[in-house]
Amino acid sequence: MSQSKNFDAAGYVEADKAHVWHHLLQHQAIAAKGPMIVSEASGLRIKDINGREYLDATSGGVWCVNVGYGRERIANAVCEQLKKMPYYAGTAGNIPHIEYAAKLIGYMPGLSRVYLSNSGSEANEKAFKMIRSLAHIKGNPEKKKIIFRNRDYHGTTIAALSATGQPERKEWFGPFVPGFVEFPHACCYRCAFNKTYPGCNIECARALETVIKEEGPETVGGVILEPITAGGGVIPPVQEYYPILQEICRKYDVLMIMDEVVCGVGRTGKMFGYQNYEVKPDIVTMAKGVASAYMPISVTVTTEEVFRSFLHDPADPMSYFRDISTFGGCAGACTAAIENLNIIEEEKLLENVTNMGQYLIEGLRDLLDLPNVGDVRGRGLFCGVEMVVDKKSRQPAPEGMVAQVAGEMAADGVLVGRTNRSLPGLNNTINLAPAYVVTKADIDIIVSTLRKAITKVFA
Ligand code: PMP
Repeated sequence: MSQSKNFDAAGYVEADKAHVWHHLLQHQAIAAKGPMIVSEASGLRIKDINGREYLDATSGGVWCVNVGYGRERIANAVCEQLKKMPYYAGTAGNIPHIEYAAKLIGYMPGLSRVYLSNSGSEANEKAFKMIRSLAHIKGNPEKKKIIFRNRDYHGTTIAALSATGQPERKEWFGPFVPGFVEFPHACCYRCAFNKTYPGCNIECARALETVIKEEGPETVGGVILEPITAGGGVIPPVQEYYPILQEICRKYDVLMIMDEVVCGVGRTGKMFGYQNYEVKPDIVTMAKGVASAYMPISVTVTTEEVFRSFLHDPADPMSYFRDISTFGGCAGACTAAIENLNIIEEEKLLENVTNMGQYLIEGLRDLLDLPNVGDVRGRGLFCGVEMVVDKKSRQPAPEGMVAQVAGEMAADGVLVGRTNRSLPGLNNTINLAPAYVVTKADIDIIVSTLRKAITKVFA
């Protein structure tokens, strides 16, 4: 172990067990197995404190370290900026903040304003607050409801969780914020309307209009969508889906928020997930890949029209967006985000995501010959393999078996994710999202390890 300062390896395990309250993890499981403690990383490889190496097919566990580990140029650029000037907020701008905003907007035709905060949840909260404010500004104070989609996740804070379509994640945390309303998911493999594409009239998209009408169009201000549902099972909607939603939104003057927290900044092979579709959102949020988690930063981007609406009357003291995030726009975080984009541009990583994404999904589709692989879905370097008891019934494989598949893979040195337990019976998808520098050789290892694990667990 190279980095120990206060403890030896066993001491870190004990201190972790004694004092760390982990996100998401079940502590009884950690107590039994011991925590995995990561101490070093480079490219797609991470090492634990015992020196064991893993191929990380998750980009940091939750799809963040998109340009890969060990990027000294990000570290150096942030270090130089922090020495020069770390922070000033409120009325003053800072240079990395401005440069980042201008650079980002270059990738987002039709959008023009960049509002910074610190996490995906917060970026979504900003979007909700914008829509709620606009209802007043435009003289329709009732027009505040936000429609969200079943199986989508939008964050951990109470409003973002209120907008989340994953029941188990919400259990015990209510009461929720009023004004959030669900509509059906867009998963063809488990069509909510028992139809089959393409003869389905894309009912899942048209369902948005039904909900808007039921709620009353005068009460609905926005809809929030993950371009590809991530934690809910890796679900890319069909091509016609978003244009239909867009038409419905325009008809009822409903703003479209795209939650690009996972897909944003290249994960799908386009800079943004929505750019795989003919659609123009009004607000886009992003977080994880913005600085590849070298620094925490999230972004809410809007059209000029949304921004200008807040300047409705120069004489009115309410004529601005009355919101702040203390750390939003920290110079070091913005510098990391700029370097992250520079790396993606200079190394032509979007091309690698597209090419390697194609190679990955083709490899995964070969697994459909296994009796327990029901569906393979994805776009770019973001894929899901849904496991079933048998292909005919499509009954979801038990969660424990899917966990075992991930466990077998970890034992063989490959880390993968799996759909969270939020949807009883739908917690059966293995997620793959390697860093954008992944190679064919890495993908061969990932796919063959997955085949071996599924074959063993379901034998
Ligand atoms: N939106 C989506 C689509 C996410 O996947 C997540 C995080 N998993 C969030 C929002 C919330 O981001 P954060 O955890 O940074 O608040």
